[in-house]
Amino acid sequence: MRYFEVAPAKASWRWSGQYKAEHRWSLPGVDCPRCGPWAGMSAYPSVSLVGEVARMLEQARPTTTLEEYGRLAASVAPLLTASQPLTPGCSFGPLVGTAQGEFGPVTAWPSWELILREDALVALREAGAHDVLAVPVELRAQETLPTLYLVETRPLGQVHRGSTRTTGGPCGECGHPGEFEVAQDWALNQAALPSADVFRVEGTAVTVVSERFVAAVSRLGGSDVEYREVPSTPFRNLSM
Ligand SMILES: [Zn+2]
Repeated sequence: MRYFEVAPAKASWRWSGQYKAEHRWSLPGVDCPRCGPWAGMSAYPSVSLVGEVARMLEQARPTTTLEEYGRLAASVAPLLTASQPLTPGCSFGPLVGTAQGEFGPVTAWPSWELILREDALVALREAGAHDVLAVPVELRAQETLPTLYLVETRPLGQVHRGSTRTTGGPCGECGHPGEFEVAQDWALNQAALPSADVFRVEGTAVTVVSERFVAAVSRLGGSDVEYREVPSTPFRNLSM
């Protein structure tokens, strides 16, 4: 199976669809005494919160103390699976907001949010795509919108260690994984390829899809996205 990084198209766009939205709930980032304030980009739209925890995470604050973050994270952790690691700033629930214009089969603007039109989701299911977990967005619009879905991209893929260089280890206080640099022509770690046809690359905001994904959605016509093939062996070694 071949894999492709998804990015917004650089050339002129054929679709006018835009949205302004946030996830219904999110954890604050942390203000770590060692690393300073930071928040990750993880989002799990399939996770719904109720009761006291929902109320606490509805009004997202940018950052909080390690102690309060720990308390809030502990109240969400039982709702998550092993493939949904929790990081500061993690969001949950559907995208809620407003939209306008016409949407193509696939939208990736911003690049870390992958939106599918309903016919694209149906095409993926018919093509036998694995683990495409998609949650309807809740966007208000003047015109009638097709049903749109946000894909939950779990961090199931890894950058090949030959195309990354880590500067500084993980933080013992807040769990920050440490800064790492990824080569422009980075490769996937073939030894840890997931079976899913869409996933995020661990430690990054990069979305990767399989050739089965690209073939199924491309049959519906053009989208304003670009697919760059990601090899599973690095072209050159960055770690030396
Ligand atoms: Zn830290």
